[in-house]
Amino acid sequence: MKNHSQQKLLFIFPHPDDESFAAGGTIAKVHHLGHEVTLLCATSGCKGKSGEFQFATREQLALHREEELRKACSILGVTELILYRYPDGSLIEQDMDQLVDRIRTTIIELEPDVIVTFPPDGVTGHADHITISLATEKAVILAEQQYPASKLPRLLYTSIPHYYDHCQDSGPSNKCLITSKVDISDYRIHKGQALQAHKSQVYSVNRAYPGVMESDFTVIGNYEYYTLVRDNGQAIDPPVKSVNELPTIDLV
Ligand SMILES: [Zn+2]
Repeated sequence: MKNHSQQKLLFIFPHPDDESFAAGGTIAKVHHLGHEVTLLCATSGCKGKSGEFQFATREQLALHREEELRKACSILGVTELILYRYPDGSLIEQDMDQLVDRIRTTIIELEPDVIVTFPPDGVTGHADHITISLATEKAVILAEQQYPASKLPRLLYTSIPHYYDHCQDSGPSNKCLITSKVDISDYRIHKGQALQAHKSQVYSVNRAYPGVMESDFTVIGNYEYYTLVRDNGQAIDPPVKSVNELPTIDLV
């Protein structure tokens, strides 16, 4: 049954597994609340390590990672998965205007109420993460001109402060300010199982979420973290907050 207040959310990430690391609990939560979630994954992740799996070609790894992503999506409740299938690590080499236009077109086709991507710091500093953030923000600003004025989308960045606790050697020195958090305490198991679905990414999962691959989900925290960037066609100036005093929000 269609919920009248049902909203559409579009999560835009560069790699299969980013959705689970950054926003797995949030996606499961908004799905449970009856909202519609689309995930746009820009690359095939064909450069990632492949754990116990051996693949003769990058194409085979890419196909395998798509299967893992589909499994994670079904655990989290992603309604629609859109794959751009750029080569892993290549986003910075793509024509920026074309990438922006492709994302803008996807946004206009879906008309989501909420759009979520990485912050421009890329969380891990990965060039694909930074590129998708910049391209998405540009695409949202262009798409706003084609939206009905009464339902302009919100744009949020999602960050992973947990990552810095576990991988202190990595990450940008200039981190984007986080302004709010989503309570995912009832959805930690979904996040854990979605991370487990990315079996070929065992090294990354073990590094940031040790224990999860063995079904010990205690390392998964109760919150995922967000910064509201644009609302109602306007850029938002984030108020300065320390992580301990962030307000708890719901995306929809
Ligand atoms: Zn990634």
